[in-house]
Amino acid sequence: MTLEEKVGQLTQMGGGTQATGPQAATGTEEDIRRGHIGSFLGVWGAETTRRLQRIAVEETRLHIPLLFASDVIHGFRTIFPVPLAEAASWDVALAERCARVAALEATAHGLHWDYAPMVDIARDARWGRVVEGAGEDPFLGSAFAVARVRGLQGHTPGSADAMIATAKHFVAYGAAEAGRDYNTADISERTLREVYLPPFRAAVEAGAGSIMAAFNELAGVPMHANRRLLRDVLRDEWGFRGVVVSDYAGIEQLMAHGVAATPADAAREALSAGIDVDMVSGLYLRELPALARRDPRLSRAIDDAVRRVLQAKQSLGLFDDPYRYSDVAREAARTSTPEARALSREAARESLVLLENRGQILPLPKGLATLAVIGALADDTRSVLGNWAAVGRPQEAVSILAGIRAAVSPKTRVLYARGASARSDDTSGFAEAESAARSADAIIAVVGETEDMSGEARSRARLELPGAQQGLIERLAAIQKPLVVILLNGRPLVLSGVVARAPAVLEAWYPGSEGGNAVADVVFGDHDPSGKLPISFPRAVGQLPMSYAHKPTGRPPSDSESYTSKYLDVAVTPLYVFGHGLGYTRFEYDTPRLSATRIDPEGELRVQVTVHNTGQRAGDEVVQLYLRDDVASFTRPVRSLRGFARVSLAPGSAEEVTFTLDRDDFALLDADDKRVIEAGTFTVFVGGSSSAERSAQFEVTRGERLTGRGSAVPRFMRSASARW
Ligand code: BGC
Repeated sequence: MTLEEKVGQLTQMGGGTQATGPQAATGTEEDIRRGHIGSFLGVWGAETTRRLQRIAVEETRLHIPLLFASDVIHGFRTIFPVPLAEAASWDVALAERCARVAALEATAHGLHWDYAPMVDIARDARWGRVVEGAGEDPFLGSAFAVARVRGLQGHTPGSADAMIATAKHFVAYGAAEAGRDYNTADISERTLREVYLPPFRAAVEAGAGSIMAAFNELAGVPMHANRRLLRDVLRDEWGFRGVVVSDYAGIEQLMAHGVAATPADAAREALSAGIDVDMVSGLYLRELPALARRDPRLSRAIDDAVRRVLQAKQSLGLFDDPYRYSDVAREAARTSTPEARALSREAARESLVLLENRGQILPLPKGLATLAVIGALADDTRSVLGNWAAVGRPQEAVSILAGIRAAVSPKTRVLYARGASARSDDTSGFAEAESAARSADAIIAVVGETEDMSGEARSRARLELPGAQQGLIERLAAIQKPLVVILLNGRPLVLSGVVARAPAVLEAWYPGSEGGNAVADVVFGDHDPSGKLPISFPRAVGQLPMSYAHKPTGRPPSDSESYTSKYLDVAVTPLYVFGHGLGYTRFEYDTPRLSATRIDPEGELRVQVTVHNTGQRAGDEVVQLYLRDDVASFTRPVRSLRGFARVSLAPGSAEEVTFTLDRDDFALLDADDKRVIEAGTFTVFVGGSSSAERSAQFEVTRGERLTGRGSAVPRFMRSASARW
């Protein structure tokens, strides 16, 4: 290979959209012929990819096939709930199934390489990209990272529906100061290793074929130039062998960060740090050949990177059959199938979180004479899909209003009024909404954020309902009819003003193609809600960032003492804690029983807890286990999630759930970032949220230094993964 041909393999071009769908941008066909393009971003379609692939395979000197990459974040044409919503299901098997179906659809459209899962931990709801991940917790986040990688890649590498997964954005992107997207992150090595790195580690252990670098700097080093993390940690410590891709023009942005003076500096820095593929900046192609001719180290780095790209192409079977992903018949057969739609509805139902249900006003009866449905978002088929909806089509999505209309009795009169939108302060629709509400037996208000308010570059400094929606809720509440609020949004909102007025609040996030049907399933009681929050909901923006897994401080908050860690003007607790979510029945927990009260550091501890359904209906509960290291050489979180399990219980029945804890749960990092277990007591908490109160204590009898890296994959998910 010539140097230019090698660097061509490291070069990813963006596509362009034309009337017929996505295409290679003008002029890029000639670049393919010259061997200057290794992969495309955002170009798909069986026919289009076949045509471009043919140019690469037949009209270039080396006949190397192209890779087609895209962002398939929560479905391709059939759209599943946004990732944050899906995490609220706490159902990793479900997440794996959704990712598999997304990959089936996407690969049938010629795509090989997915820029998902996003595994960034997010503890600041101002950051709009909260919507793309699994929330605030590294354990839950690792579980979903593994499930999504397995689902996308499948278990048979080399089959034509396997899609390379990319864990992104490496790393600490979610720690952006003030929740402002792309902003600086500056966190300790301990926080990095305990909170932000584990889901990446889990994705790597699950066999993720690719990692994407993050736009942010971390403690003074932009991630696109971060040799220590990209090479020393990712490759040397973790043994990652896949492809590292830049984020969109991230290499060029090293100049804006102020660590590269020229495009040549930026290209050199990025390659040396360990970025294999240049997404769209074009700097590798322009700068690296000349640089490498003068510097043999760069030349070797290019060879390594090219080898990894070619290996990815080989693992997909493209050298045997470059067109295997580009099959028009399969594309038609695999698009938007009834099975995919059914799965989308199932996933959406499981991702809904019932935040409030005072007076048990939900579920509503289907046979109400008149039902008022209010809010511009109720009739918004685009917002139901959420951000990053790939090729999902609003005209194929079920709005909340359509779902409700389809579910109620034919005799029920559904009165719809826009009332207010998330986008403006216009209150001119209030009167019509109030009049509809007055003549109804119950009111459903659908409010929140439009899909373009949560996502990349969608940071918000205020988190109350946008536009005139809060005012609308107040007017509707004053009518004194049963009021149900359904929320569409991609991040925790500040809901104090809503909850004070509406007795029932259902968090629907952006529920996907079948969103309206899923919401109706829950609102009218065909399906009981069982989702649990994967992220805390604050009372006020000023509390952010926040997590249930905070440190104790030297002056823990106390109501009776003033010089303690709290606010003058708002409670220190969240409005809704991590793990919170109601059902239509009630669950109670016995005190957990432990297999031992003293164990060795090598030992395993079994924790058994009995859960009772003491309500009137059958229902699912997500049983959660939290652990606290009571005293250690370094401060520890007040509690950390270390296990969860879903149980389905008939009314009056009970089930015993068993969790097992071991060294990966007891360990902490010492001063040299090495894993150790310290002797002393731990407390286990078990219950239906992070404020679980049932607890038991045990003692680890002696300390131990641990060899090996341990595993970031939750124990209950550790089985052989396909290796990429
Ligand atoms: C985002 C990535 C995404 C990429 C390609 C960037 O702006 O940060 O998450 O994969 O664009 O679309």
